[in-house]
Amino acid sequence: MTGGPAFPATLERDWCLQADGEDPLGVLRERVALPDGVIYLDGNSLGPLPVGVPARLDQVVHEQWQQGLIRSWNTAGWMGLPHRVGDRIAALVGAAPGQILVADSTTVNLHKLLLGALRLTGERQVILTETENFHTDRYAAAGIAELADAELRTVAREALPQALDGSVGVLLLTHVDFRTGEMHDMRAVTARAHAAGVLVLWDLSHSIGAVPVDLDGCAVDLAVGCTYKYLNAGPGAPAFLYVAARHQANIDPPLHGWLGHRQPFAFEAEYAPAPGIGRLLAGSPPVIGIAVLDAALDAFNGVDMTELRNRSVELTDFFLHLVETRCGGQDLGVVTPRAAGARGSQVCLTHPHAYAVVQALIERGVIGDFREPNICRFGIAPLYVSRTEIWDAVEHLRDILEGGAHHHPRYAVRAAVT
Ligand SMILES: *Cc1c(COP(=O)(O)O)cnc(C)c1O
Repeated sequence: MTGGPAFPATLERDWCLQADGEDPLGVLRERVALPDGVIYLDGNSLGPLPVGVPARLDQVVHEQWQQGLIRSWNTAGWMGLPHRVGDRIAALVGAAPGQILVADSTTVNLHKLLLGALRLTGERQVILTETENFHTDRYAAAGIAELADAELRTVAREALPQALDGSVGVLLLTHVDFRTGEMHDMRAVTARAHAAGVLVLWDLSHSIGAVPVDLDGCAVDLAVGCTYKYLNAGPGAPAFLYVAARHQANIDPPLHGWLGHRQPFAFEAEYAPAPGIGRLLAGSPPVIGIAVLDAALDAFNGVDMTELRNRSVELTDFFLHLVETRCGGQDLGVVTPRAAGARGSQVCLTHPHAYAVVQALIERGVIGDFREPNICRFGIAPLYVSRTEIWDAVEHLRDILEGGAHHHPRYAVRAAVT
């Protein structure tokens, strides 16, 4: 068993209501604006709208842009946004200020840091990653390997330790697996890589805002992550990157641009990188997107990531417990690790008709998502998901499976975005 929290032998919905009412973190839910009639278990794909975002957006557009015009680059501090908001993100992932920058998309940042890393590793021109890594990470690594005349080596997770040999320059891993929710031991893996002389680049897309991360404490070299999942910064929100202070003077960002220059407004003929993390900027910051991210981060003000993690562990345990005790005999499999320490903040179940089951749930207002080949994925964002919602979601799941509602032909038609 799990070693996680124990639940009463006979569970009823009333127990959930009471436990939610007594939960000191329950009030955090008021920081996001969820629509009525929806149980939202997809915050690991696109987080909901934080309540402070519309007013901030209005201020940026009307006060700063409409009235301030170009003066706002200085008066509203637009130019400093990638750094200031980066420092706020740093506080959530155990990084001292000056090491995180908000810029571009996760995919672009992967390109920047992978090539930057290969330029630091001399003869060791091999990127190592795992077969199950997220696709954009694998595509970016393959693209950079081609560009840099390096090699991409992809192995199964179990084979990673032996694969850390003297030829490898950089290890690229996603901390929490997008499909299964399995979580790497960042401290142990980073230490093992360093012992083999390998730099480590972590993708935190499924970690930030859901599980505690200690980048400085684990001596991580490089990291990237996205902000539209558990950080709720909206569709296509700008991503972030981390370069440990000790690497900043040496890393040569492959995308040279004026905003990464040490003096952008000197308009010098030759590129000269800014000191510090600023050299990882290429072009102008997406001001509106970063301002929205800044407002979205207010939802985490005063939130202790360890307490949030405890809540996440209890909720995912609760979900698994209900599935095991109430949905027996329904062809459901559990792919998320049962041991709380080995999983992020999601629960993934397999079912032979997973796509149809997810569609039937969505029609009932329970929004999760489907991942190939047979996974029903439920993101349990600890900021706002309640026990009562998990109870209701599992009851819908049980009802659908017992009654066979998912066999209706309308659930078999696939949309472009699953
Ligand atoms: C969501 C996600 C991304 C997102 O990449 P973008 O380029 O920002 O769209 C990258 N990596 C992982 C592991 C993800 O889960």
